[in-house]
Amino acid sequence: MPELPEVEFAVRRLRRAVRGRVIAQLRAHHPSQRRTLTPSVTRAAEGRRIVEVVRRGKHQLLLLDDGATLLVHFKMDGDWVLDRRDRALPPHARATLDLHDGRRAVLVDPRALCTISWHAPHAPPTLDLGPEPEDPALTPARFRSRLARKRGPVKPALLDQSVVAGAGNIYAAEACWHAGISLRAPASALSLARAARLLDGLRAALGDGHVNAGRYHRGERPLPFRVYDREGQPCDRCGSRIRRIAQAGRSTYFCPRCQAR
Ligand SMILES: [Zn+2]
Repeated sequence: MPELPEVEFAVRRLRRAVRGRVIAQLRAHHPSQRRTLTPSVTRAAEGRRIVEVVRRGKHQLLLLDDGATLLVHFKMDGDWVLDRRDRALPPHARATLDLHDGRRAVLVDPRALCTISWHAPHAPPTLDLGPEPEDPALTPARFRSRLARKRGPVKPALLDQSVVAGAGNIYAAEACWHAGISLRAPASALSLARAARLLDGLRAALGDGHVNAGRYHRGERPLPFRVYDREGQPCDRCGSRIRRIAQAGRSTYFCPRCQAR
């Protein structure tokens, strides 16, 4: 599933391909995309210039010159194919942005779960998202107070997009390993020092993720995860066997020694 680093990588590619360019045609190829990209929506988008492409959490926002927004979410498997309008459509094409200059951006998704929707200038999308984890304005004290609103253990709390935007199952587990914090530690009872370690850990994990997003794209071998999907393998720090547990319905991974408390 694309997490924050993969979505950030996709947004940068898309931005280079479409920013400043004019939409010639917006096309939906699948019934689920036709539900949101109705004929009136595709007409409204045509002729508009894409002034910026930004990421918020795992959402992608294409900001148009009339103030409207195209909101895209990859969900489990989405991605962009960026090529030219004279090519045959790639497999699993769900929606296409044809540009005036002959380029195009095709939203592809084998499972067809990705979403794309248009939001009028007077009604921008409302996203219930916390701050970006890499935003310098997110201090350890603010991070701690956001976590403190949550009941229950810290790792599922990190997955709540309204606490912090964009942390998914992989990077939340990796963050707890970096910080040496138990997955079961209560979110509401972290000391300031532990909250600071967890925030640093989240940023370290996302940093590796940004490197890997580029490596995946180039077909290169990714940096290994520290705990994610490594059940039974030795911890990089202490050599203990990584363990897997189910927590809030998801498989999650930790080092029983480094993350004892
Ligand atoms: Zn360890």
